[in-house]
Amino acid sequence: MHHPRSLSEIVDNGLCLGCGLCQAIAGRDQVAMDWVDPPGRLRPVIRQRLDEASERAILATCPGMRLDGAPDPVRHADTVAVDPAFGPWIRVWKGHARDESIRHMASSGGALTALAIHLLEGGTVDFISHVRADENRPMRSRSHVSRTRDDVLAAAGSRYGPVAPLDRFTELLDEGRPFAVIGKPCDISGVHNYARHDPRVSELVRATLAFSCGTFADLDCSRQMLERVGFPGGAGGEENLSLFRYRGYGYPGPTRAVDGDGRVFDEDVAGGCPPMACDVKQYDCQYFFAPPSCQPLLPMLSFSQR
Ligand SMILES: Cc1cc2nc3c(=O)[nH]c(=O)nc-3n(C[C@H](O)[C@H](O)[C@H](O)COP(=O)(O)OP(=O)(O)OC[C@H]3O[C@@H](n4cnc5c(N)ncnc54)[C@H](O)[C@@H]3O)c2cc1C
Ligand code: SF4
Ligand code: SF4
Repeated sequence: MHHPRSLSEIVDNGLCLGCGLCQAIAGRDQVAMDWVDPPGRLRPVIRQRLDEASERAILATCPGMRLDGAPDPVRHADTVAVDPAFGPWIRVWKGHARDESIRHMASSGGALTALAIHLLEGGTVDFISHVRADENRPMRSRSHVSRTRDDVLAAAGSRYGPVAPLDRFTELLDEGRPFAVIGKPCDISGVHNYARHDPRVSELVRATLAFSCGTFADLDCSRQMLERVGFPGGAGGEENLSLFRYRGYGYPGPTRAVDGDGRVFDEDVAGGCPPMACDVKQYDCQYFFAPPSCQPLLPMLSFSQR
C-alpha cells in the first residue's frame, strides 16, 4: 500500500475511523458521512469532485493518516515527561464525579461529564463538542453541542457504536467562541492535527478530553444484541426502539433496549459490553489499535495554555 493521495484512498485502504473531520473540512456538498450498511458503519461519501485545498487539508489532518501523540510546544511545557507508549504526560490522577447522580448515570464514574460541566459553569468555555444518542434513532449516535448542564447530562455515557464527532468541527470554529471537545483518542488526534492547519483551534479549543478506547462496534453488533434479548422485531427491530443505552446507570450497568411501550430488554455487560463482544466490530479500528499506533493517545485530558 502506498501512502494515500486522496480521501478515496484513505477509505479504500481501510484507514478511515469515521470521525467526520473530512466532512467538516470540505462541506457537505462535497463530502457527507453516510452509512455503509451492512455492517452499519459511518464513512465519508464523495458527492462531487473535491477542491484541491480541501483534499490537501484532509490528507494532512485526517486521524486515519496521522495518529500520534508527539509533544506539542503550544500545549506542553518543556518539562513535560514523554512516555514512549503513552506520549506526553504530567501526572496521573484517580477520581470520579462527586455528584452522585452524575456518577450513577455516566459510564465509568462521570469524570468527563463533571469536567465538562465545570468548564462550562466556570466560564472557561461556552460550549462542549461531544456526542449523544440520536433522539429519533436511539441505536445510532450523533455529534452534539452542549451549552448547558442539562445538555451535557443528556450526552453522558459511552456510545460504543459508530458516530462522527467532528462532522461539524469547522462550523464550531466559525462561531469564534471558546469550547472543549470530548472524544475518542483518534477524534482528539484529528483535533490536534487540524490545529496545525488552522490557528483558530489553538485559540478556541480550550480543552480536549479523551477516554481510553479499545475500538467500537458496527451497528450489526447492536442488532445482534436485540436478537439475543428477544426484542420485538429481533435484529431488525430498530424501528421499535425508544431507547438504546450501551451501559451506565450504575457500574457497569446493562446494555438496555426499550420498546415503544416502555418494555425493557437488558443484557448484562459483565465481562464486556455485549455489542463490543461482537465479532464484526471495526476492522479498521482494530488495525489501528494494534500497538503502538493508538496507545500514545491515551492521556485523558489536555488543556490549552490560554
Ligand atoms: C467506543 C468506546 C470504547 C471504549 N473502550 C474502552 C476500553 O477499551 N477500556 C476502557 O477502560 N475504557 C474504554 N472506554 C471508556 C469508558 O467507556 C468511558 O467512556 C470512560 O471511562 C469515561 O467515563 P466517564 O464516566 O468519565 O464518561 P461520561 O461522564 O459518561 O462521559 C462520556 C463522554 O464521552 C462522550 N462519548 C461517548 N461515546 C463516544 C464516542 N463513541 N465517541 C466520542 N465521544 C463519545 C460523550 O458524549 C460524553 O461526553 C471506551 C469508551 C468508548 C465510547
Ligand atoms: S477525516 Fe475521519 S471520517 Fe474522514 S477519512 Fe479521515 S478518519 Fe475517515
Ligand atoms: S481504538 Fe483507537 S483508533 Fe480505534 S476508535 Fe478507539 S481511539 Fe480510535
